[in-house]
Amino acid sequence: MVTASLLNLLVCPICKTALTESAQSQEVLVCASCNVTFPVIEGIPVLLADQAQATP
Ligand SMILES: [Zn+2]
Repeated sequence: MVTASLLNLLVCPICKTALTESAQSQEVLVCASCNVTFPVIEGIPVLLADQAQATP
């Protein structure tokens, strides 16, 4: 999982909004503004615009 202190530093690479952890999974971070998620691979968030996945 991503620690709260790290999470505070993370912003969406597209819109620069603060990211939140998904309620469903600790393996993704959510941008509520873009409605996309970013993967967290082995505890490391992958905050690349081309890795963004649209949320249903
Ligand atoms: Zn965004």
